[in-house]
Amino acid sequence: MILLDKHPSGRHFLQIPGPSPVPDRILRAISLPTIDHRGPEFGALGLKVIAGLQQVFRTRHPVCIYPASGTGAWEAALVNVMSPGDKVLMFETGHFATLWNKMALRLGLDPEFLALPGYDEATGLPNSWRHGVQADQIEQRLREDSDHRIKAVCVVHNETSTGVTSDIAAVRRAIDAAGHPALLMVDTISGLASADYRHDEWGVDVTISGSQKGLMMPPGISFNALSPKAIEASKSARLPKAFWAWDEIIEMNRTGYWPYTPNTNLLYGLSEALDMLLGQGLPAVFARHQRWATGVRAAVNAWGLPIQCADPNVYSPVLTGVITPPGVDADALRRLIHDRFDLSLGAGLGKLKGRMFRIGHLGDCNDLTLMGALSGVEMGLKLAGVPLAGSGVAAAMAQFAGEPSVPDVLKSHNNR
Ligand SMILES: *Cc1c(COP(=O)(O)O)cnc(C)c1O
Repeated sequence: MILLDKHPSGRHFLQIPGPSPVPDRILRAISLPTIDHRGPEFGALGLKVIAGLQQVFRTRHPVCIYPASGTGAWEAALVNVMSPGDKVLMFETGHFATLWNKMALRLGLDPEFLALPGYDEATGLPNSWRHGVQADQIEQRLREDSDHRIKAVCVVHNETSTGVTSDIAAVRRAIDAAGHPALLMVDTISGLASADYRHDEWGVDVTISGSQKGLMMPPGISFNALSPKAIEASKSARLPKAFWAWDEIIEMNRTGYWPYTPNTNLLYGLSEALDMLLGQGLPAVFARHQRWATGVRAAVNAWGLPIQCADPNVYSPVLTGVITPPGVDADALRRLIHDRFDLSLGAGLGKLKGRMFRIGHLGDCNDLTLMGALSGVEMGLKLAGVPLAGSGVAAAMAQFAGEPSVPDVLKSHNNR
């Protein structure tokens, strides 16, 4: 029982930006007995979770649920609407955009990877990994594509490797302004149910998401939300698809069933998560993530450390990336904090390896669990000999105490 030995008392602080801490209520729901996935009770569960997901994605159109990680849902999105050699326009915002781009290559597509050029002088890090999607660059590229060879524009809504949330409505406007017929595909694996997201209103054709971030669930299921245009495109698309194919899933989902064995117990958890999120109301859910993000940024600013996201207009409500000073290995710091304080922080990924760490503020959190996490980070920074401008913990306490409480925010939402 190595795990138990390492956690002699109290809760582990899982402060990574996904998997997020899972509320006990959801874990208990998952522990219920597995039922017959072809039996009469199951259809009601299937219909309920699909209807709830439609509310969270803000769509009236089908949402497919896969027993797979988010990466599976990325693949599902591409293989359903693309044909071999199709050109897709992707935008480099960080590690996840890069992985999706690699997947497009492996599937035999022809991805073009736009990026904000240049490097940040102070940190030497690429500008594109500190900012969001640049809709004007997308518009310009689409205008140049007069024979419409680009079949899809693929962007990441909340780039979990950097803590930057891009403006998806602006990308939609860019595609429309260029008069281009490309599909819009959006990864909001870490944005859904934490940051405002509107599949129909923003004219997204395929939205990809996963269970283990804002939905507060364990990893293991993921989603494709569709548009009528995407469903139409899937009928003539020629990349091979079988397990991922939308058509049979949509057909069986009409009565709440799947063409294969779905992840029954995770669907119990999803049902509970949807009750919690929709019961509280999405505006209140978004408000509490913004509140935590503001508190965490107050701490980072007080420490005098740079925030990975260099554009305050697109700070993520889900996580905050913290750049460590030159010579301070962020991975060694994370290791120290883990070993001393039983607190897990997100690593710098890809081009950011060792240069930064990420604090997740999503899932089963509240002001005090975040204060605990920030205390662990501050103690770790001091132990690692990082010079700090001031106390981030004191700044975050002042921030949280200066704002209305979460129940007050909820009350004002419910009275609206
Ligand atoms: C977590 C994440 C992924 C990958 O999802 P997996 O479940 O690990 O396959 C992809 N994109 C973003 C933005 C993510 O946050």
